[in-house]
Amino acid sequence: MKPESFLPFARPDITEAEIDAVARAMRSGWVTTGPETKAFESEFAAYLGGGVQAVAVNSATAGLHLALEAMGIGPGDEVIAPTLTFTATVEVARYLGADAKLVDVDPTTLNIDPAQIEAAITPRTKAILPVHYGGLACDMAAIFDIAQRHRLQVVEDAAHALPTTTKGALVGQLPSAAAVFSFYANKTMTTGEGGMVVTKDEALAARMRVMRLHGISRDAFDRFSSKTPAWYYEIVAPGFKYNMTDMAGALGRVQLQRLPAFVQRRQQLAARYLHELQDLPLILPADAPQGDTHAWHLFVIRLNDDARATRDEVIQALSDAGIGTSVHYVPLHRQPYWRDRYGLTPEQFPVAEQAYQRMLSIPLFTAMSDDEQARVIAALKACVR
Ligand SMILES: *Cc1c(COP(=O)(O)O)cnc(C)c1O
Repeated sequence: MKPESFLPFARPDITEAEIDAVARAMRSGWVTTGPETKAFESEFAAYLGGGVQAVAVNSATAGLHLALEAMGIGPGDEVIAPTLTFTATVEVARYLGADAKLVDVDPTTLNIDPAQIEAAITPRTKAILPVHYGGLACDMAAIFDIAQRHRLQVVEDAAHALPTTTKGALVGQLPSAAAVFSFYANKTMTTGEGGMVVTKDEALAARMRVMRLHGISRDAFDRFSSKTPAWYYEIVAPGFKYNMTDMAGALGRVQLQRLPAFVQRRQQLAARYLHELQDLPLILPADAPQGDTHAWHLFVIRLNDDARATRDEVIQALSDAGIGTSVHYVPLHRQPYWRDRYGLTPEQFPVAEQAYQRMLSIPLFTAMSDDEQARVIAALKACVR
């Protein structure tokens, strides 16, 4: 076999169309938040449909922070989230002085387990933060039922979920307070860094728009638009600096147009993995129920007891074959900050713990070729059976 180039775990899919769009923004003379970002917001809202408001920000982390802030989450409050996620899901609660209750996940989907949510509710609980792990929707019917019975808000960490549907409805259109998408470099579409918060709640959207840019209120303009001079503004809160640049907005608009093709390619790659890896000693990721869409941001495999190698050995073997992998995630209960703050132990999270020991994420990105995927399949076959 001829020496092959390194196949990364993920790579953004950027064409001349994106480069032209960013160059157009740069040449326009307006490089911060402006017409491109505004157009991106309305095109993103139109893509989701259902009359949602879309608020563009410079990361999903910023979006999660803004959503919780706008809901009034603060000191003494608690939010419930899965342990098997990225720290961004819950670090934003700490920014606001609130606390995170981490809970275990479902063994099949690796999504937050609704029964564990119910058990973690206290009088201080204010919100549930489900994460659509890998791009597969959480059991939202069960989550909304719990939220309704206990009067809790739901904020979806939808960083993996563009586009994901559940019972035919797109994530972003569900009856949660807000859903937050990420356009980080390796997500299903990218703006380099960026995110979008969507909500149907106009007051929530208005608060987030004020807080993403220093707490500057546009109300003075709206109320006295003809009389207020252009230089006048009012600061109504100590806001943040979370706005999206027009270079990112321009890039996002092109990526959004290409999203249907991206989805198709990801589904094709996932279907081939599911088919060609089915006889190996692996637990393959759960597909979406019939008729629903899995965004396939990640393809997470878990080694069975009869696999011939450990997870670490498989990662090494793939690396030796020039193939990049990753692990999603080192569960938060193992991370020093979260572990020590809440005195967490692995025994409290048996499902996430078991999954973590055996899991790795293999390359799945739109710009990957069929030959590159064949290399991953062959390398896996060679080391696990
Ligand atoms: C990527 C990611 C985030 C953070 O997104 P940024 O845009 O990088 O802030 C949050 N949660 C999850 C589950 C993610 O994968």
